[in-house]
Amino acid sequence: DVLTCYDTSFNSMMLSTYTLNGLTMTGFSKPSPIQLLGIPLGKLGFDLILEAKSGTGKTVVFSTIALELLNLQKGLQVIIVTPTREIAAQICDVIKQIGSHFEGLTTEMVIGGLPYREDVEKVNKNVHILIGTPGRLKHLINDKHINTCAVRLFVLDEADKLMENSFQDDIKCIHKALPGKKQVILSSATFPESIKEVVDDLVEEAQHVCPTTSNVLLGITHKVTLVKYNSNIVKQTENRFNELARILSEIEFKQCVIFCKYQARVSQLHKMLKKSNWPSDLVYGKQAQTVRLEALKTLQEYKCRILIATDLVSRGIDAKNVNLVINFEPPDNCETYLHRIGRSGRYGSIGMAVSIISEGEEFVKFNKMLEPIAHTINIQNFWTKENIT
Ligand code: ADP
Ligand code: MG
Repeated sequence: DVLTCYDTSFNSMMLSTYTLNGLTMTGFSKPSPIQLLGIPLGKLGFDLILEAKSGTGKTVVFSTIALELLNLQKGLQVIIVTPTREIAAQICDVIKQIGSHFEGLTTEMVIGGLPYREDVEKVNKNVHILIGTPGRLKHLINDKHINTCAVRLFVLDEADKLMENSFQDDIKCIHKALPGKKQVILSSATFPESIKEVVDDLVEEAQHVCPTTSNVLLGITHKVTLVKYNSNIVKQTENRFNELARILSEIEFKQCVIFCKYQARVSQLHKMLKKSNWPSDLVYGKQAQTVRLEALKTLQEYKCRILIATDLVSRGIDAKNVNLVINFEPPDNCETYLHRIGRSGRYGSIGMAVSIISEGEEFVKFNKMLEPIAHTINIQNFWTKENIT
């Protein structure tokens, strides 16, 4: 385990015994680098930009800070926004676990795709920590169902995603409804230059927490495997599929997530794998919310080995046994690449990422896309002997 070299404990962070017990009970004894740096700064009330690779425990950072600032006599004090409903559910679980010793603590989740009326009921009760997706939170705020006057902490998980055009208006709207004086935490594995202005609008003199020692992704090997190019999309998908089947049968993996660009490809692949006796599960945006959540639960509980997905789950999803990520089609940009492959090698475990790339133009584009991170990763050809474990 890459992280055993960090032996400073949570005990040295002056946390309440409730939080400490919660962390211990959850099985967390040693903080990761981002936790070691971020939690103390957050407790001091600084705005934070948490930038650390996937799977390094950022959720614990803002969850712990949230729990530590709560006054259970008061109402809503923490709002956490996430781009997907699945991440919201995951954060809610983490906070409930770490916060299990806080008597009377209420943590609720409000997400699109589930009945609005139920969410109204939830927020009308006394909630201390509210986690949600942008649209639903905005809706509830606009309808005056959420009293924001006691909010002291505003967290954006996968912050760079939330600052993209599609979410920006919702985020601004929620932000405007909060008291002027509050702490803001932005968290992500990637903070591209392009969002700098929006970031500056949200945080004041933020502490940028970006541990250089966070080498957890070192546990991931990057591979690429080339397939013949065919201008006929059906043939091309077949080429990719044959390669995929070969990868799945040649390497030993515990669980695998396969990423596709389009929803249609996800269901197509699901059928093709089934025919080849590879049972898989699938998740994409158009599914009903309950089905989406169920698919991820199945993965997290190790009840399925292969999950086929769109970039809907390329961020934030945490399943401990995923040690293989396959890009059935290449991602659009290097941020998405990093988020996708970060589904394996969680918290210091070993993982592999294999990208199936067409010869020619696609390969050229792929290399170009990875240029900004080329110095940090070493991409090897999949079919060299030592690669097959
Ligand atoms: P990130 O958001 O940085 O990608 P997560 O917060 O989802 O990462 O955490 C990744 C995994 O690491 C989770 O399974 C979590 O339970 C585990 N984890 C986090 N902190 C610790 C810790 N201090 N000790 C052991 N495991 C941890
Ligand atoms: Mg995360």
